[in-house]
Amino acid sequence: MTKKIITLNEVKRNNLRSVLDLLLRSDGLSRIEIAGKLGCDNTTVSRAVKELIDRKIICPGSKNGSSNGRPRVALQVNPGGPLLLGIALEPDGISGVLTDLKSQPLRVEKIRFRNCSDQQEYLAAAVEIIEKLQLAAKDKVAGIGVTVFGSYHGTDAVLEKAAALPILNGLKLRPFFSRCTTEEVIICDHSVALATFLTRREAELTTGDVMLINAGKGLGVVLLRNGKKLFNRNNHGGEFGHIIRMPNGPKCACGRQGCLETLVSTPAMLQKYQELTGKSISLEKLASEYFSNLPDAEKVIAPAIDILGTAIAEQLNNYPVDTLAISGDILKFGTAFCKRLQKSITTSLFSLSKENLKISFPEIDSADALAIGASMLAAENYVSAFDRITDSGE
Ligand SMILES: [Zn+2]
Repeated sequence: MTKKIITLNEVKRNNLRSVLDLLLRSDGLSRIEIAGKLGCDNTTVSRAVKELIDRKIICPGSKNGSSNGRPRVALQVNPGGPLLLGIALEPDGISGVLTDLKSQPLRVEKIRFRNCSDQQEYLAAAVEIIEKLQLAAKDKVAGIGVTVFGSYHGTDAVLEKAAALPILNGLKLRPFFSRCTTEEVIICDHSVALATFLTRREAELTTGDVMLINAGKGLGVVLLRNGKKLFNRNNHGGEFGHIIRMPNGPKCACGRQGCLETLVSTPAMLQKYQELTGKSISLEKLASEYFSNLPDAEKVIAPAIDILGTAIAEQLNNYPVDTLAISGDILKFGTAFCKRLQKSITTSLFSLSKENLKISFPEIDSADALAIGASMLAAENYVSAFDRITDSGE
């Protein structure tokens, strides 16, 4: 008897989740359109819709268009519904966003540092941002996502190898952020936050097998199948940046030598430029010198393209996918860079991996992509934890 009740509840929750998931990815759908997309009957959809409306998670939008003479009422995610916090921890600062369930930013808070040398100071800034956003949310926060650089492990999500800001090493992320909220804290690395952000915007990344490479200050890889992330234990992508390319090469923050990150990350390229010319320049300046075909920029970037291209091709030869997407700060080097990188990759591919492979370079069009990606993960967690919502309402 008990078993049957649980099963029925499960079915109900799955229906709610499926309807909401569709609405999160659209600008509004009618009940009939939802039923068509889910391949189920109108009664099931209407029940799920009624419950989501009663809980103020979705709401009917304006009537627009018509089918068969009847006005079409598009349902949409309630802009006045539950809110989420996304926090991005970066070496040079912290960003926080307050978003609705659809991850539209309602408020942004940022604190930037110039060489922060005190963990307490850094964490106090994080707390300040969270408190400001919680105040703005007026008790409507339903979840919090935190994205971090470096690596973390275990239930406490203990941070390590935070090379760009070692004062954070040893920080127990989960207990620390749990003190700031009554909601469950979702922790993810930067690659997973960006993958979450990009898959919501780029429909092509949600079909088939996708390898998403994030290349910038660090390098990460996330594999996806039909939009679902694979092999990302604890929301952590693979350590693409720490595959060793030059066994006796430059010392890496991970304690080894010659990792990919020491050769082709943006800081590595800037460092190499400085060694070559004695000048310290910004990434934007290096990009503009590369556009202008200046020889020093070319000397730094050309070998980096080949090293990165071969490394990506090796990943693809191991895991042939339908789509390779490369994103991150490295795209600042422009289309000529992307074309050369694409050529370098395909040169080293086996025919099987090359077959039907699509290569794209999706731009990240928001300065707050990391924080928004973290809030999207918190939203996904909120939706998947519907047990709490439905059970408390029964
Ligand atoms: Zn390394």
